[in-house]
Amino acid sequence: MTNATLTPMSKAVDAPPRPMMKAIAVIPGKAGSAHLATMPRPELTDVPGGRGVLVRVLRVGVDGTDKEINAAEYGAAPEGFDFLVIGHESFGRVEAVGPNVTELAVGDYVVATVRRPGHSIYDVIGTNDMTTDDVYYERGINLRHGYLAEYYVDDAEFLVKLPGGLREVGVLLEPTTVVEKGIAQAFEIQRRLRVWRPRKAAVMGAGTIGLLAAMALRIRGMDVTVFGLDRRPFLNSDLIEALGARYESTRDLPVMAGAAKHGPFDLIFEATGYSPIVFESMQALAKNGVLVLSSVTGGDRMVSVPADRINLDFVLGNKVMVGTVNANREYFETGVKDMATCEAQYPGWLGRLLTHPVDGLENYGQLFEELTMGKGAIKVFCRVAE
Ligand code: BGC
Ligand code: ZN
Repeated sequence: MTNATLTPMSKAVDAPPRPMMKAIAVIPGKAGSAHLATMPRPELTDVPGGRGVLVRVLRVGVDGTDKEINAAEYGAAPEGFDFLVIGHESFGRVEAVGPNVTELAVGDYVVATVRRPGHSIYDVIGTNDMTTDDVYYERGINLRHGYLAEYYVDDAEFLVKLPGGLREVGVLLEPTTVVEKGIAQAFEIQRRLRVWRPRKAAVMGAGTIGLLAAMALRIRGMDVTVFGLDRRPFLNSDLIEALGARYESTRDLPVMAGAAKHGPFDLIFEATGYSPIVFESMQALAKNGVLVLSSVTGGDRMVSVPADRINLDFVLGNKVMVGTVNANREYFETGVKDMATCEAQYPGWLGRLLTHPVDGLENYGQLFEELTMGKGAIKVFCRVAE
């Protein structure tokens, strides 16, 4: 606040200086640069047309993308800044709304979407998650500040309301939307079959996304097998079994053997981060099945695969493989519904994913420590405010 008292107030036309706030930021391109930044608080009027919403940030989750951004493998600062505020898994409470906001009110719990519109036809029709632009704008990731701050302001268009009953687990909505989009895309694609009643599903990977995918598939009534690396029992396998799904360690049962035992699978959701598993998954797919790929694999790993075999089975079995990234508001809305169903069907299950809370923005060091080395971490998140 010293700034305010030092600023000459002689010119009446000048806007009063904005109050400052804390945020966690990185210097893009500089590895390990996460730090506590101080910056002006955003204001409602930053959004044109009276559609601004000021949100008090309560919790923000972190994931592999944040790890990569702090490792300088990814991420760019917004124009006019040399730093990027990180954090894209938000949860907060509305503190003020612009005069033309009717769908949200002060006190509402909200989660913001991540990607902002670019210029392709998909951006224009409100499906910016399907953009064909090379440059994309994602809050907390690329060219737009994120949510690891005390406040943010955004257009009501990009905020999704959560019922108060989900406030303890609201920070899980953004990762859930990744799953929701993948599953919705699978069903959309499978309309080609006129009738598609998937019974057996597999999830590759038992991390946060794998767990949420297992949940979403179980509440759709599928028989779900989750493949992970570690041997059961551990928290993640316990959580999978609590859903009435089964867990298999690929150390004891490789994917192909697992498919012979529990499959073949009508739907497979891949979320391991380990690309070679994709080619095994292709072979574990049932006739007419669909394989959804969601791992962002930044490396350049090479493998050799039985190409003729995989191709033949894909052709003769009319199989589909699809990639999926990001999510637009439609999937945030489905995510809210699935999380509510999950709370009703498996009470307390979502809360068990919140393994590693870190208190306060100033503890950004601990946040990254838990994210990179946290033992048994499922979701590491920052409690920005109560
Ligand atoms: C985010 C997505 C984003 C993707 C690529 C993920 O961690 O959850 O919203 O589109 O990274 O940047
Ligand atoms: Zn993410």
